Amino acid sequence: ATFGTLSDRLTETFRNLRTKGKLTPADVDGTVREIRRALLDADVALPVVKEFTAKVRERALGDEVNKALNPAQQVVQIVNEELIAILGGQQRRLQFAKNPPTIIMLAGLQGSGKTTFAGKLAKMLEKEGHTPLLVAADLQRPNAVNQLQVVAGQAGAAIYAPQPGNGVGDPVQVARDGVEVARRHQHDVVIIDTAGRLGVDAELMKQAADIRRATDPDEVLFVIDAMIGQDAVNTAKAFQEGVDFTGVVLSKLDGDARGGAALSVASVTGRPIIYASTGEGLDDLEPFHPDRMASRILDLGDILTLIEQAQQAFDEAEAMKMAEKLATDSFTLEDFLDQMQQLKKMGSMKKMLGMLPGMGQMKQQLEDFDERELDRTEAIIRSMTPIERRNPKVLNGSRRLRIARGSGMTVTDVNALVNRFEQAAKMMKTVARGGTPNIPGMGPI
Ligand code: GDP
Repeated sequence: ATFGTLSDRLTETFRNLRTKGKLTPADVDGTVREIRRALLDADVALPVVKEFTAKVRERALGDEVNKALNPAQQVVQIVNEELIAILGGQQRRLQFAKNPPTIIMLAGLQGSGKTTFAGKLAKMLEKEGHTPLLVAADLQRPNAVNQLQVVAGQAGAAIYAPQPGNGVGDPVQVARDGVEVARRHQHDVVIIDTAGRLGVDAELMKQAADIRRATDPDEVLFVIDAMIGQDAVNTAKAFQEGVDFTGVVLSKLDGDARGGAALSVASVTGRPIIYASTGEGLDDLEPFHPDRMASRILDLGDILTLIEQAQQAFDEAEAMKMAEKLATDSFTLEDFLDQMQQLKKMGSMKKMLGMLPGMGQMKQQLEDFDERELDRTEAIIRSMTPIERRNPKVLNGSRRLRIARGSGMTVTDVNALVNRFEQAAKMMKTVARGGTPNIPGMGPI
């Protein structure tokens, strides 16, 4: 699928990063270099790649990463934010005119998916309660008017098309008449399909510019085939100069495109991507969300939500205190209790673990995870005296029995907890020294 290879490469890059604690400038440079190669191989335009990697590098070397609890995850977050930025930042919706009809003109190369998109958009708008009229102003391609008629039929939308046999016809006049018909019949949206050529040419541009001038559209949508790779930037620039457009439609995102067009066009033209077309069927159309696209490219599930929750739950100052305790070997069961309460703050463990990528195969283990485990552990620690909490070494048989009775657990439960505490202390010591903990069955996070 589109972005498949890019996703794999980026995920691989981050997997290498994830095995590290603090990041050195060399780590950052290595990562940035890999990101750069992955983007270039995905056909992202060079100027876009340069700007992107420069920003990521600058931020990754800065304080936000240096001071982060988990620098690697912070880098992932930066890459995500910068991806969203080059994809246009905020979602941009289709804009409707204050006084209907809203006029939408389509432009783009032949075969880019304009006619198909016209039908998809009409169908989507109808579902939203609009009454679109399709206008067949592509008189270049012999079959274009007929194709739009078929699509309109499938979408159940009205169409204005020049009568066949009336000579070549003037597409500018057809567009103008179409708007007039919409006004008369109270269609609140007009979608004008225009002619495309296989390559950019002057005559085509002039015709599109004339239609634009004659109809004064509220939106000019440039439809671009995501599969065209490196040509995307030049084509988009040519249309911007020749006709100019207010928004972009990415088509054929369901194919095997490497994704470069998607990542370059918004950034190079400064125009937002408004829709993504994802198949030949009329329902295969989605409003474009830069943030969702970025998540899809990074293939990280909801890992960023997870990171945010972790950041909210773990107070930084608290973490520093803990790190110091670990370093001086004074981490106690009391602290363990604290940590557990922090964990609880992060919400349901199951929900949290479910957000990690690749957890699909771990469903059973998630099912088996018992949230009440945390409560039981807490009960046991609460039944200990302060001395016992500070120094579990004093826990002899009779103390363990007393604690078990006090907490309503068995001695075996108490023993298991003390063992787990010792393991956890060891694991956290590793983290404090800059290593990565291994959570059983999950591999390093
Ligand atoms: P136009 O010349 O710009 O009007 O392009 P068309 O709408 O005729 O589309 C050209 C070809 O691409 C047709 O065979 C469409 O079925 C196909 N097509 C259009 N949009 C998509 C899409 O999002 N995904 C896929 N897979 N094919 C598409």
